[in-house]
Amino acid sequence: MNNRLKQISDYIEQNNLDAVIITVPRHVYYLTGFASDPHERFLGLILPRGEEPFLLVPALDAEAAAQASSVQRIHTHSDTDSAYEVLRGLLPASLGSIGIETEHWTVSRFEELKSCIGASRFSSVDELLRDMRVIKSEDEIGLMKDAVTLVEEVLRRGLQKVAVGVTEIELVAELEFQMKKLGAQSPSFSTIVLTGPASALPHGVPGTRKISRGDLLLFDLGVYLNGYASDITRTFAVGEVSEEQRRIYNAVLAGNEAAIQAVRPDVTCASVDAAARNRIEAGGYGTYFNHRLGHGLGIDVHEYPSVHGRNEALLKAGMTFTIEPGVYVPGVGGVRIEDDVLVTAGGVEVLTSFPKQLTVLGD
Ligand code: MN
Ligand code: MN
Repeated sequence: MNNRLKQISDYIEQNNLDAVIITVPRHVYYLTGFASDPHERFLGLILPRGEEPFLLVPALDAEAAAQASSVQRIHTHSDTDSAYEVLRGLLPASLGSIGIETEHWTVSRFEELKSCIGASRFSSVDELLRDMRVIKSEDEIGLMKDAVTLVEEVLRRGLQKVAVGVTEIELVAELEFQMKKLGAQSPSFSTIVLTGPASALPHGVPGTRKISRGDLLLFDLGVYLNGYASDITRTFAVGEVSEEQRRIYNAVLAGNEAAIQAVRPDVTCASVDAAARNRIEAGGYGTYFNHRLGHGLGIDVHEYPSVHGRNEALLKAGMTFTIEPGVYVPGVGGVRIEDDVLVTAGGVEVLTSFPKQLTVLGD
């Protein structure tokens, strides 16, 4: 049993549970090494108290699971089975308390599980998993660095296609083509390229807008590689830079750098957010920084912790998250500069290394 499974097994003992059922596919990967997307089919890692853990997978995934999973007790269900009936047959006859990921279950699936397995109490293991995941191991940090290296190369290649008249969506296609070509599993979220006034929409959708001289051009992209996500934003100027664009850019950059400098163990998430916000307010753009500073990053592209002004949770060595202040001025454009950082015993390591000084792309 690996160390992560051991932690869950200990939790079962301490909390007097009869079993824990893990159904978030990324958690199955995290705990066993078996990555899959079961779509609507049931995928579960089951840890019955005092017994060997087992996987219950769709029959078509049995071979893949046997190859990848450190848990070698593997049961299957077919498309004509009720997965919950199969599960019932694999669990002890009498069940009291079961731990599940409450954030993952839909009401209808939960009702089906409940009526099938006949346990009387269900409790949440969400916090347990969250606390395990939030501190990254050396191996995980290595995988995240690989995902960062890859996406930075994608951005370098994508920038070569920037020219006046090229559309946002053409650049998205080029970036996602390069992701695949360089071996990424997938984008870690829908790639964002926004130009001109559209760059002022933090969640804008790339379309057929053409790049014009004088635009701010914002790229926000990430990849999954070996199950770990990267996430980077850089903003450029096209052809020329106005005074206001430069002021906005410098305010965001100062905020980004101040936040990075504030990162170290035992400071609050809120204090890191404040470090960026204070600098951007001092630059006169506080009201245009209308979202949190960042989010945890790992096997999910958005995970714990949420780095915002009311999160008093303390940073710990081994946490990884984004620092992504932005200023969005309607009609003018937006700037966001996003880095991925690791909290170290001595302070911070910035995983992203793409240059941050304002770059004017040729016309
Ligand atoms: Mn991003
Ligand atoms: Mn992000």
